[in-house]
Amino acid sequence: MKKIRVAIDGPAGAGKSSVSRLTAERLGYSYIDTGAIYRALAFFMGDTAVEEHDKIRELLKNFEVSFRISDGVNHVFLNGNDITAEIRTENISRKASSISAIPFVREALFEMQRKYAETGGVVMEGRDIGTVIMPDAELKIFLTASPEKRAKRRMLELEAKGQKVDFDELVKEIKERDFRDSNRAVSPLKQADDAVLVDNSGINLEQTVDVIVKYAEERGAE
Ligand code: C5P
Repeated sequence: MKKIRVAIDGPAGAGKSSVSRLTAERLGYSYIDTGAIYRALAFFMGDTAVEEHDKIRELLKNFEVSFRISDGVNHVFLNGNDITAEIRTENISRKASSISAIPFVREALFEMQRKYAETGGVVMEGRDIGTVIMPDAELKIFLTASPEKRAKRRMLELEAKGQKVDFDELVKEIKERDFRDSNRAVSPLKQADDAVLVDNSGINLEQTVDVIVKYAEERGAE
């Protein structure tokens, strides 16, 4: 049985996490959310500022992230502690985005992510999976949607959690994050030359998963 590697990259709010988790489920593969690793580090930093590089280096020596899916939720563990809910705040989003521009942080997390890819049978999601982490993945997807559509989805998500948000503010934040992620010097967000572009502005979650599973089967996934 052939177990391929699927890389899913794209901007914030394109639905990567749900799409990747469900695609992994359909294929019977493991699912790795690499954004959660950056978020876990941002959380681990606590009050440590993004500029305090020595302190961050020290923290990285003691930094372990693992995942476990239960009841359809991908639980994220930092050194054994479940931090799933704590890493989904706007504050952590901003901090994760800032630290991800630091070269030694990306290097340290590179090895960690490579290990997850070794066995195949994996759906890995992030910003540089098809370009840097798994450049030889059998299937690469660049998943995107319009900023307004992405902001709308994010708003519904936050409202479901009881948080009140301003739509225009969300659109602005999404555009800013896109800009930071696409223009940083190390591993900027960009579509790999051999990636398939999937714009899901006009299709729902299930339809998006169907499209990707079909590509995976075409590439020999069983
Ligand atoms: O995908 P998510 O929003 O959880 O990622 C949080 C932040 O981590 C992103 O804004 C991005 O800057 C960074 N990231 C990255 N490379 C990845 C995954 C995430 O730089 N492979």
